[in-house]
Amino acid sequence: MRLRRVHILVEGVVQGVGFRPFVYRHAVRLGLAGSVLNSSGCVEVEVEGHDGPIQSLIGVLRAGPRNAQVRSLTVRERPATGESAFLVVESRTSSGGEGTISPDGATCERCLAEMTDPSDRRHDHPFINCTDCGPRFSVIESLPYDRTRTTMREFEMCPDCGREYEDPANRRFHAEATACPDCGPTLSLLSAAGSVLSTSMEAIEQARQMLLTGRILAIKGIGGFHLACDATRHDAVATLRRLKPRPDRPMAVMCRDVAAARQQCLISETEERLLCGPQRPIVLLERRPVQADGWPALSPAVAHRNGPLGVILPYTPVHHVLLAPQRPAWLVMTSGNPSGEPICTEIAEAMSALGGIADGFLDHDRRISNRCDDSVAMVSCGRVAVTRRSRGFVPLPVRLDRRVEPTLALGAMLSNTIAVARDRRACLSQHIGDVDNRATLSFMRETIDRFCQLTGVDPVIVAHDLHPDLESTRLAHELSTGRRRVAVQHHHAHLVAAMTAEGIAEQVQGLVLDGTGYGTDGTIWGCELLVGSASGCERAGHLRPLPLPGGEAAIRRPLRTAAAYLHVLVPGAASAPLGLWRRVSRSELEIVRRLVDRGFNTPMTSSAGRLFDAVSSLLGVCDDVTYEGQAAIELENLASTCPTGRAAPLRLRSTFLADRIMLDPAPLMAGIVTGLIEGEDPACLAAGFHQALADALTAACRSVHEAGGPDTVVLCGGAFQNRILTRMTSLGLERAGLHPVTPGPIPINDGGLALGQIMIAHEAIHGRRPAME
Ligand code: ZN
Ligand code: ZN
Ligand code: FE
Repeated sequence: MRLRRVHILVEGVVQGVGFRPFVYRHAVRLGLAGSVLNSSGCVEVEVEGHDGPIQSLIGVLRAGPRNAQVRSLTVRERPATGESAFLVVESRTSSGGEGTISPDGATCERCLAEMTDPSDRRHDHPFINCTDCGPRFSVIESLPYDRTRTTMREFEMCPDCGREYEDPANRRFHAEATACPDCGPTLSLLSAAGSVLSTSMEAIEQARQMLLTGRILAIKGIGGFHLACDATRHDAVATLRRLKPRPDRPMAVMCRDVAAARQQCLISETEERLLCGPQRPIVLLERRPVQADGWPALSPAVAHRNGPLGVILPYTPVHHVLLAPQRPAWLVMTSGNPSGEPICTEIAEAMSALGGIADGFLDHDRRISNRCDDSVAMVSCGRVAVTRRSRGFVPLPVRLDRRVEPTLALGAMLSNTIAVARDRRACLSQHIGDVDNRATLSFMRETIDRFCQLTGVDPVIVAHDLHPDLESTRLAHELSTGRRRVAVQHHHAHLVAAMTAEGIAEQVQGLVLDGTGYGTDGTIWGCELLVGSASGCERAGHLRPLPLPGGEAAIRRPLRTAAAYLHVLVPGAASAPLGLWRRVSRSELEIVRRLVDRGFNTPMTSSAGRLFDAVSSLLGVCDDVTYEGQAAIELENLASTCPTGRAAPLRLRSTFLADRIMLDPAPLMAGIVTGLIEGEDPACLAAGFHQALADALTAACRSVHEAGGPDTVVLCGGAFQNRILTRMTSLGLERAGLHPVTPGPIPINDGGLALGQIMIAHEAIHGRRPAME
């Protein structure tokens, strides 16, 4: 049989993921000669041998190793040379390509097997990793990616680790973060006062005992500290909530594996894959109506009983060891940060910020170079929707459908991320947080510098939110000296971010529902039907603008919004026997009504979030919020308990203005008031509200389509993290013959905005039409 030689160019996320040893192992196994090398972000393979083995190798390459994402394989024939060995060739260049920096990956199966094997030299090693798993982004300081430019440079490799590192047949060939008990980082348990109690495995065992006795521990992980406690101990969970303070927001829990997670939650196949994937996000799962027998019950303080449970599986060796025995079975794992500030990464920072909360610190001496919170994801309408894209995903680039100039985008304010882009790729940063305090603002500045440096982007364009008073806008002004600055309307950015994530370039309808975004008319928008693309868009519809008495004060206290909306929309409600009136003082009510009547310090808003707030308070669900979206989330939780087919019949009124549709919630609010007076179940009213909003949105999209508008409808904005609303709206759109696009891989909340800003800024400067301003 004739020998064949081919050159294979592999593109995608192929560097820093163990691609070369992967190719080497398979080529040698298949008896092929040739070579493999990294070049400019790609992997080049040249192999010689018989056709069958070459075909097999191509098949294997198409899948790639665990963390690779192969986008394309290009195979070219070459003349055979009679070569007989297979070599791993040193890199030509090691930076500049896509996916040069990998995200952090959860401990892989093979490392776990070694770790639990008493004869292995890495038995019980809490820092075991390989080319398939372990820290990456969180330890990298600069490029190209090798040990000397990571925080692992502080640990000199021992001869054994060095041999593995040099051996192309070894799984740890060029595993930059490789470590063993002889040369790797050390774990230590510190008391609240900072004295070392124990180290290594002893530290883990002692930490476990502390957790079992109801203590709170700060545990240093991959991207920062967690605060942990036994989730089945109500005293511990309640104490953690009180001290953090985190009065209401659900907390994530960690359990050892999917089987354990099934004791509490219903888990679909897609959810199981998401839970177990190398990104290891917190996955929001539906809880079992009745918990499986024989398992300890979670403290009710972990999360609202009717809402989803955020579950995360172990992703570092320390987590695995901590949860290996039967107890504790469930750990609360909440980020270790002072309220509203970035997650702590170093022990000194943790001791000062978390000192009053934690009874001990499980620390290690591998420095965290890039702090990175846990990611959060869920399955919505059968698709994986990432709502916080951070550890495990960042800094993987997003492919763009057009070339862009070096651009920096600063996002907005809440749950912010930044993005840098050049050519055909954009990198969204990790979760930065709410940029409304000094600490988060300085983290944002650090992140901008780090991302520009890691991606080699020296921006010529700076994009930011249209809102003039945001910290990110101020920063954009500061950073735009000598650069083009483009202000981007908030909801337009939401729409284009979702379109970019989905690879949609043509005109679409966008239903953009969120809490707050600055509109082109200076009012606050938040329930918008837009028609357009990155190159521009029109406001085809929106919710009727309603007064927000006291602005921010009403956002913190939905009861005020409820009172204001009733005052304007349902005049008769003032004398109706509503529970709401019993929960508010006469004087506060007077203030609200006076603010609304005079329009003093009372902005107008078409926000979907505020409508959810008003309904939530009116139904007695939530009068005051302690975290963003709380009233809407609790309303969704209540709606989920409504038996199928029992949703109350409610509706919004569609008014056709000269150039757009306005959705008026007056009949909806009146309907809820009547329902409450007649003793209707609040759960059925909550479900009816969701259905009414979905119906009104669907009808608006249908009429835009009938008037010649596009038939694709993109659902985005934070309000579509609401799975009931998303399901009802997309079902309605489908029935109307339209094509709904539901949430996907990029956050549809403000955490994805920067991506949209990049594309819109590009079009504003290079496109034919001006952006929406
Ligand atoms: Zn591994
Ligand atoms: Zn070693
Ligand atoms: Fe938004």
